[in-house]
This record gives sequence, structure tokens and C-alpha cells, in this order.
Amino acid sequence: MRLILLGPPGAGKGTQAKMLKDKFCIPQISTGDILRQAVKDNAELGIKAKLFMDVGQLVPDDVVIGLIKERIKQADCEAGFILDGFPRTIVQAEKLSETLDEMGSVIDTVVDLEVDADEVISRLAGRSTCQDCGGMFHEESCPPKAAGICDSCGGTLAQRQDDNTETILKRLDVYQESTAPLKQFYKKQGNLKTVTARGSVEEIFSRVLEMVK
Ligand code: ADP
Ligand code: ZN
Repeated sequence: MRLILLGPPGAGKGTQAKMLKDKFCIPQISTGDILRQAVKDNAELGIKAKLFMDVGQLVPDDVVIGLIKERIKQADCEAGFILDGFPRTIVQAEKLSETLDEMGSVIDTVVDLEVDADEVISRLAGRSTCQDCGGMFHEESCPPKAAGICDSCGGTLAQRQDDNTETILKRLDVYQESTAPLKQFYKKQGNLKTVTARGSVEEIFSRVLEMVK
């Protein structure tokens, strides 16, 4: 099963992708996570990417396309994968199609998670992530038992660099301009499914499952 999760920042792509990964035992490939790890490692890729990420802009296409091409050719992707945060531009989508074509493969379903801008801002501005296990919390909807500490592993919680109002607004603009046109792109290909990303994580997950099965 080869899936793409589309949707604005804060739509819950990462959360749903993790649940799909556990259910279907196929890898979750998040360009955002790969890039953040490269920043943490102070790798050449990370040093370059950080300049764009910190201001809410997209990392150049050739950089992320290269990452994805390499990743989806790995053995653990043979039974399928979930792309979370990629593609984000028409050029990325075209290159992905080309690469899959060369591999004799296709994307089965594109799930578009729909959510309002207001909701996105409050979700992202209140969110914190465990630095050790990646667990996610929210000051209102899912607060940790002790402030700043992960319930599951005791790790330290931190806000993402780019989860401040100014950068969130910029990411939403970039989404509208560069990523939203992908809906039309995949609609034409006939594999776009739209899911309302309102409600609990479990409610949204069951809607997603309806679309992928
Ligand atoms: P979100 O969807 O919440 O904005 P991500 O973790 O997917 O967050 O991405 C964080 C940042 O990483 C983006 O704002 C962008 O700078 C960069 N990034 C991630 N994926 C891509 C991509 N496919 N193309 C270009 N830049 C990307
Ligand atoms: Zn943790």
C-alpha cells in the first residue's frame, strides 16, 4: 500500500501516519522528521535546510526529492509506505510519479486531511513534542501530567522552532500557494480522498481507514 497524506500544517498528518504505520507495518516517511533529524545532527543537509525551516519556507525541491528517491528504494518500502509531508509542490509530485514509474509502482491513495486555518493555528501554537520519543502533547487538548515532561518516557518536551504564530502564518501561506494545488493534481489522477480532520484522533483515523481499505 502506497499512501500520501496531504493537508495543511497541523492537520494531523504525522499523527495519522504513525497510526497507519502501526496498523499496516509499512514505514512512515516524513520529510519534516528527516530534515529535523539532520538539523539535530548538524549534518550538511540540516545546516542548509534550517535556514528555510525556521522561517516557514520550503526546502528546495531538489534537496527533498533526492531524499525521497533514496528512501523509497530501500528494502523496507517494498510492501508500501506512507508519505507524510511530501510531495509539497507540483514539481515534487511529478518527480515522485516519475520515480515510481521507473520502479514499476504507483501511489494507491492520497488522503487529504481538511482543517480550517483557525484550528491549525491553535493546534500548532499549543503543541509540544518529546525530544526523546517524539510523543505529542497539547496544552489544551492533551496536556502532559507534569508540565514539560513526557508522560510515556519522562523525556523533555519542547516546542518546535517553527511553531510560533509568525512562522505558522507563513507556513499556511506557503501551503495555500504551493501545496494546495496538489489536490487538483491528484484529483485528475483519480486517487484523491478527502477526510474531515475534525474530532478526536481516533475518529479521524477511522475515517482515514475507510478511505484506504
Ligand atoms: P508541518 O506540516 O507541520 O509544517 P513538517 O514537519 O512536515 O511540518 O515540515 C516542517 C518544515 O520542513 C517545512 O516548513 C519545510 O520547511 C520543510 N519541509 C518538510 N517537507 C518538505 C517538502 N516536501 N518540501 C520542502 N520542504 C519541506
Ligand atoms: Zn517521550
